Amino acid sequence: MPGDVRDNTEKAVVTLLGSCSGTEPMPGRHHTSFTIEYRGRLYWFDAGECCSYTAHLNRINLPATEAIFISHTHMDHIGGLPNLLWTLRKLSSVSPDAFCSLEDRSIKVFIPDLEVWDGIVKLLSGTEGGFHCPFKLHAKRYGDGLIYEGNGINVFALHNRHLGDSSPFKSYSFRAEIGARSVVYSGDVRHIEDCEPLLDDCDMLLMETGHHEVEDVCNWLVKSGKRIGRLIFVHHGRAILDAPGRELRKARKILGDKVAIAGDGMVLHL
Ligand SMILES: [Zn+2]
Repeated sequence: MPGDVRDNTEKAVVTLLGSCSGTEPMPGRHHTSFTIEYRGRLYWFDAGECCSYTAHLNRINLPATEAIFISHTHMDHIGGLPNLLWTLRKLSSVSPDAFCSLEDRSIKVFIPDLEVWDGIVKLLSGTEGGFHCPFKLHAKRYGDGLIYEGNGINVFALHNRHLGDSSPFKSYSFRAEIGARSVVYSGDVRHIEDCEPLLDDCDMLLMETGHHEVEDVCNWLVKSGKRIGRLIFVHHGRAILDAPGRELRKARKILGDKVAIAGDGMVLHL
């Protein structure tokens, strides 16, 4: 039941909230977003449509939000961000526990384009009560390297070529190191080799297929010699949306059972 939150105090839990690329509405799938829960804190990676709705109904404790990492500001990765922030405020107004969790906290928003952030702030300021809330928002434009460190998690960013090569870069891939474990999220990339420096000894790779064939990704990984514990396809393009079973068979022929295709609400333990 919503509100009856899961206890994930010591485990790292990855929940896929939206598995679709930037398509028109698809049955059972929303645009891209996932969370990592660790040591009582919640971390968001991209915030596509409905991400807070799906998270709340999956009993994720939204007031534990510590940081939000936006890979780039295309709608299928950021469309749910204003609603996520609005939902946090709403929860703080209807639940005393949520209010206590959020009071005087500073939620960090890592975003590669502060002009877009300014637009989101303007949008929120036009909602109920001028969006006054018990928590603060701290937005930061990031670049390559270590961008977040705390609570046993380090998050590294690396620019990719999804939006071209001009600086400042506006599209990134991420690597989260959680204790001795690691998750790499491709974001949207021109080619999987964009994330190559992030892939050493990777326990879980969340790789987009909105712009790529699954066979090309699998063959590149084999050739690279990188150790990938699990490969989860996310941000699905037309091939997976049309025939997920067929695409999974193709991928498993190359990489075996370590491959899975994400669905909305899928929970992965790390
Ligand atoms: Zn996308």
